This record gives sequence, structure tokens and C-alpha cells, in this order.
Amino acid sequence: MVSIVTGPHHHDVLVVGGGNAGISLAAKLRRDGCRDVAIVEPKDVHEYRPLLSYVAGGMATLDDLRRPQAEAMPRGVRWYRDAVTSIDPARSAVRLASGGELTYSDLAVCPGSQVDWDAVPGAQDAVRTGAASTNYLPEHAPATWEMLSALTSGTAVFAISDRHVPCAPVGLKPLFLAADHWRRTGVLDAITVELVVEADRLVDLDESDQELRAAAAEYGVRVRTATSVESVDGASRRVRLRTPDGPDEIRYDTLYLAPPHRAPGWLASSGLTSPESDGFLAVDPVTLQHRDHATVWGLGDAAEVDALPSGGALRKQVPVVAHNIAARRTGATMRHYDGYSVGPVTTSRTQLLLAEFDRQGRKEPTLRVPDLARPRRSLLVFDRYVEPQIYWRRLLRGKVS
Ligand SMILES: Cc1cc2nc3c(=O)[nH]c(=O)nc-3n(C[C@H](O)[C@H](O)[C@H](O)COP(=O)(O)OP(=O)(O)OC[C@H]3O[C@@H](n4cnc5c(N)ncnc54)[C@H](O)[C@@H]3O)c2cc1C
Repeated sequence: MVSIVTGPHHHDVLVVGGGNAGISLAAKLRRDGCRDVAIVEPKDVHEYRPLLSYVAGGMATLDDLRRPQAEAMPRGVRWYRDAVTSIDPARSAVRLASGGELTYSDLAVCPGSQVDWDAVPGAQDAVRTGAASTNYLPEHAPATWEMLSALTSGTAVFAISDRHVPCAPVGLKPLFLAADHWRRTGVLDAITVELVVEADRLVDLDESDQELRAAAAEYGVRVRTATSVESVDGASRRVRLRTPDGPDEIRYDTLYLAPPHRAPGWLASSGLTSPESDGFLAVDPVTLQHRDHATVWGLGDAAEVDALPSGGALRKQVPVVAHNIAARRTGATMRHYDGYSVGPVTTSRTQLLLAEFDRQGRKEPTLRVPDLARPRRSLLVFDRYVEPQIYWRRLLRGKVS
């Protein structure tokens, strides 16, 4: 049911954001017996965002990842097709863009994060030239593949930021899918491929990091880690870099960006951030309860949880928040989130590895055998074709434990 707010409305649990986190949590709460759950979500289309990497690699279309939001909404959950503009935790109230107000007993805040173009001067203008692109904005994902697949010689730069990028290692997928395409079409030798990664490693798990470096070496990719893009000049097609050895510059023919992200500004103006949380929701990374407001909870890309934000991480965060909301009310022991996250990365158009790790970078595999942290054909089929079905049929239905 879609609602417009005309008078005061109170909900037992109010969820801000109907993305991966919000829908999964609302569905899980309903499954666990919570009778009054509502979601505020402005968009009428729901996207399974992991497929954006395959759109950028020419292996999926936007139609493959989009469904009407009404179909994604869990049964029995009230949907306000509206946007939250501020939260007043002292009054347990949420202000809506339409002018209405909702109140809550518990509030789950999961509006995700946004591309922060201001963090890389010139990058947004460069994207407008057509020689640079990103699949972190869905509307640019098809153009990313058009740009990469059209290249037959010159320099391709792939730049992956470390600043709150959702599932940052998947920024490598367009690189490996394009490099394999260039090899198959016989042009790889004519293309210089430069990979610029802001983090120290390609992924936070040693053995997968080594696998990815080996795959990059096979395609002749030059890998620079601990290196960030300072600015982009779209007119002269140059990226300025900050490397451990000082400033550097690369001229590009195509530029792929996994750009820095930031949290919605109204989190800070609602007093829900802290100096340490960098504008993101200041929650206890273990219980996911807000540090100052016991009835406010945070999960997903908008929360600072000292772990790589990803959809995979939500498989663990959702049951923790659902349990802890009930535990707060009854005084039961709270459950803990250990920082589990995932990095599914293609190493070619037929193989993928799945790095799974906890907050300390320790391996945390879903399956002990086979070793998923090494590239496999079956994993690519799983990631591209099976996982989307699991998302729509299980994760968005709250079937997580
Ligand atoms: C290109 C790409 C590839 C990815 N690949 C993978 C992958 O392979 N594996 C993986 O595990 N993860 C992957 N991820 C990460 C994963 O998609 C995110 O971690 C996940 O979507 C986070 O869920 P969320 O609900 O926190 O945020 P989102 O899914 O972004 O949802 C946030 C929702 O909040 C809504 N919202 C925003 N502002 C407001 C407001 N003011 N009021 C109300 N609602 C609001 C938005 O409309 C949106 O629907 C990828 C992400 C991207 C972008």
C-alpha cells in the first residue's frame, strides 16, 4: 500500500530507505512477528545493483536489474512514497519532503550513500565528455560498456576509490571483463591498461588479492595501489594522481571511475553523525545501535560500521538489527555483527572469485569446500544468474538468519 501523510502517523518500526537494507530488514521484522512496519522510499523502481558491474561489462542490461518497487515491498509493510528530509531523535519523529511527519518506537536508517563528485574535481565534467564513465550511477552503466568495448588502442585507466565506495573491489569487474574482451578481439596488445587503487590492496583478503594481481599481470595491467585520483581534466584527458612517491599524471583515452561516496547530508544536520563517522550514521559497529539514541539503528551503506559496505554484508547485518530491536525492548542479550563482507570479482568473462572476510581481514567463507576465494567458472554463473534470483526471492523476503 502506498500512503500519503495527512495527519500524525506512528509506526512500531519505521525504516528509512527501501533499498537492499531497508526492504530486507522490513521483511525480516514481519517474518519475526512485528505487526507494524513502514518504509519511506521515494523511488518507484527497485534495482539489484550488483548487476551494474555486468552492465558495464556487456553481460547484462538495466532491464535485467530493475523491478517495480511495489513488487519488492514486503507484504503487510506500509510504503510511504516520500523522502525523509530530517530526523528528530529527541521527539522520535521523521520529517518528510511532502511536509508530513511520522513518529516511531524504533527507527532503522538505511538511505544508502551517493557519488561524491566534489571529492574529485573535474571528474563529473570528464564523464560528460564521453571518454570517462562510471557504473556507480545506473544511467551511465550502459555507456561504460559502449566506451570500453569501442576502444581498440590507446590507454585505459581504471580508478577505484577507497572512500565509502559500495563493495569497492567490484570496481575491478569492468576492468577484467573489458580486458578479456580486448584479448578475445585481438586488440589487448595495443591497449595500455592502468589500474589505480586507493586502498593498499585490491581486496581485503590476502589470497584473493594475490589471485587478482596475478590475473592483472596476465593481461599486462599496470597496478598502482595506495594511489588516489586527485583531479581529472576532461578536456586534455588527464588524471592527476597522488602516489606514495609523490604526484603523477596519466593521459587516458578511456577512464573508468569507481568514485568516492558520501552519506546524505541530512544525517549530519539531524545530529546522527559523529566526528569519527565522516558524515555517516554513528552506530556501534557491533550492535548497529546508534551511539547516542537507543531507538535508532543503522545498517547498509549509510552506516559507519568499520567494514566494507556491500549487499553481502547485509545478509549478516539484517538479522542482527532485527534481533537487537526486539532485545532492546525485552532486555535480552544483543547479537553482534563481526564486520563480514564480500568482494565478488570476475577475473575474465568466464571466471569469478568470491573474497569473504571479517573486520580483521580474516577469511570467513560461506562454504569451506570448494575454496571460493579462487577464480571458478561456477562462481561466475552463480554471481551473474543465480544470485539475482536469491536476492529477489529470499533476501528481499527477509529469509536471512
Ligand atoms: C555498481 C555496484 C555494484 C555492486 N556490486 C555488489 C556485489 O557484487 N556484491 C555486493 O555484495 N554488493 C554490491 N554492491 C553494493 C550493494 O549494492 C550495496 O551495498 C547495497 O545496495 C546497500 O544497500 P542500502 O539499502 O544500504 O543502500 P541502497 O541499496 O542504495 O538503498 C538506499 C535506498 O534509500 C533510498 N533513499 C535515499 N535517500 C532517501 C531519503 N531521504 N528518504 C527515504 N529513502 C531514501 C534510496 O532511494 C534507495 O532506494 C554494489 C553496488 C554498486 C553501486
